[in-house]
Amino acid sequence: MNIKIYPDPILLKSSSEIKNIDKGLIDLINSMVNTMREAEGIGLAAPQVGVLKRVFVCQDFSDESKETFLTMINPKIIDTEGRVESKEGCLSIPGYYDYVYRAEKIQIEALDINGKSKTYLTDGMQSIVFQHEYDHLDGILFPYRMSQIKRDIFMKKINREFK
Ligand SMILES: [Zn+2]
Repeated sequence: MNIKIYPDPILLKSSSEIKNIDKGLIDLINSMVNTMREAEGIGLAAPQVGVLKRVFVCQDFSDESKETFLTMINPKIIDTEGRVESKEGCLSIPGYYDYVYRAEKIQIEALDINGKSKTYLTDGMQSIVFQHEYDHLDGILFPYRMSQIKRDIFMKKINREFK
C-alpha cells in the first residue's frame, strides 16, 4: 500500500467506526502491518493508506523482540493523566521530527482482530504511539500538538517542502 503524504486531504478527515470485522478488514490490517514494517514505522493508521476507518496498528512495546503488533479497532481513550513532551515524526510527513505535548499516561480501549475488547493502561512510548495514531483517526497530525508558535514555524517549513 502507498502511504499518503502531507498535504493529502484524506489525512485531515475523520474516520468512521467499524461495524464488522470481516475479511476485507482483516486483509486491510495485514496490508497495513506489512506497509508499516517496510517503512520501518512503529505505527500506522488506516487514513494514512487512504482508508477512512477507525483502525490502527502499532508496535507492541511490551515485546522486546519488536515483532509483535497491536491492532486497535474503534479505539477509545478513556482517561489521561499528566503531560510530557515527546519528539515525534510521522510516515506521512517524512523527514521531519519535532517535540509535541502528549498525555503521560492513558487508558485506552479497543477491539482486537478477533473482536475482543481490550483495555490498555500505558505510559512511555506505547502511550505516545497510541495517542499519535489515535489522532490520525480524527484527522489530526502531530504538529497540531505543538504550541501555537512552534506549530506556525513547523507548518511553514513543511508547506514549503511538500506541495
Ligand atoms: Zn503519523
